[in-house]
Amino acid sequence: MKILAIGRNYVDHIKELNNEIPDEPLIFMKPDTALLRNNDPFYYPSYSTDIHYEVELVVKIDKVGKNIEKKFAPSYYNEFAIGIDLTARDIQNKAKDKGLPWLLSKGFDSSAPISKFRSKEGYDLSNLNFSLDIDGKKVQEANTSLMMFDIDDIIVYISKFITVKKGDLIFTGTPKGVGPINIGNHVEAFLEQEKVMDFEVK
Ligand code: MG
Repeated sequence: MKILAIGRNYVDHIKELNNEIPDEPLIFMKPDTALLRNNDPFYYPSYSTDIHYEVELVVKIDKVGKNIEKKFAPSYYNEFAIGIDLTARDIQNKAKDKGLPWLLSKGFDSSAPISKFRSKEGYDLSNLNFSLDIDGKKVQEANTSLMMFDIDDIIVYISKFITVKKGDLIFTGTPKGVGPINIGNHVEAFLEQEKVMDFEVK
């Protein structure tokens, strides 16, 4: 499986990092070794001193697809989760300055903590509240209706270039409020009022 992700999908987050509003989705990947499941602790790596949290809605692709039309896109995913796109901002900023790829800043081991998946039945994925707490303080809070490119748009766009396959994950971008995590932090993610992720930074 592969992990695809979109950068710059909420206007308020684009502004906080002083980036330009894109006219096409900005896509990057993380390797499968980025996944961190079961509320396992995140061990802060030695190669960065500025790792940021980015809470995001994640959808799981359910069948193989290429050149998917928008009207069919909803049939390509049945489950979703809340994930955190951990980003080594110091490494990413160096890469941005030089016009180099983001792989190491976004794809390092355990850079994708993720909740359990659940069926989309009974949920409106275009109108979901989700949020992130660090040490009990709300740091990110948003609704998926604020995405510039919705899930179906993202699937249409990605599948023009890259075949999606069953089990692939798509991180759909983060809202404003990103910031650093530090050793000792307690990280909790929420879907509506329900806590879906809870882990420590060690
Ligand atoms: Mg992100």
